[in-house]
Amino acid sequence: MRWVDRGLEPAGVTEYARQYTQGWIDYFQNGVGERPTDFLWVLFRPTMGSRTNNICWYCERQCDADAESGGLASTVDHFRPRSRFPQLAYEWTNWVYSCHACNVENKGDLWPDSGYVDPCATDVAERPDRYFDYDAQTGEIIPKSGLTPDARQKALHTINDLGWNKLDVMFYRIDQTRTFTADLLALPTGDRQALIALFTEQPVEYAGAIGMVAEQLRQAGRI
Ligand SMILES: [Zn+2]
Repeated sequence: MRWVDRGLEPAGVTEYARQYTQGWIDYFQNGVGERPTDFLWVLFRPTMGSRTNNICWYCERQCDADAESGGLASTVDHFRPRSRFPQLAYEWTNWVYSCHACNVENKGDLWPDSGYVDPCATDVAERPDRYFDYDAQTGEIIPKSGLTPDARQKALHTINDLGWNKLDVMFYRIDQTRTFTADLLALPTGDRQALIALFTEQPVEYAGAIGMVAEQLRQAGRI
């Protein structure tokens, strides 16, 4: 996971929030009425996706803009789920651009006591790079060492509930990071920083994981 600047709230969100939030509160909190059928956050999905070239803000895989559902179809996740936080149904800062697998198949309505690591955290100390590391031996995303017990729980829940170490996600990530490492080490020393920048400073698949690999290579004195 790599920090994403969600950008300013687009025009229209406030008005939808005013019109439709109460229906979600009534249904989930007050037990009144039918489940609402407004899903107007999807109107803002392209704007959100454009922030990262349609890469999922959670697992860093490229979403498939043409897919209707399943796997890598693009969705808008409610970071704090609507079922527990209906007042945030139309809250711009609660929306995360996400692949179907992360949002629907894995995260669903879960919300652990620790919460999850927010890909768009405004507080620098809460951003993803504080929480995660990459295990180059196994290819797993792991909690960073030295975290407090609470922060470690938050990192573990995020990793496990979003399925980041499931085989299909992990194998492709291993492939990408190994290719990056081989390409990097094959370059003359003076050209390496430019390749690192290309893969970490803009939204490409697994930019977060690749950034961690580059940092490990730097610390090991290999680059
Ligand atoms: Zn995803």
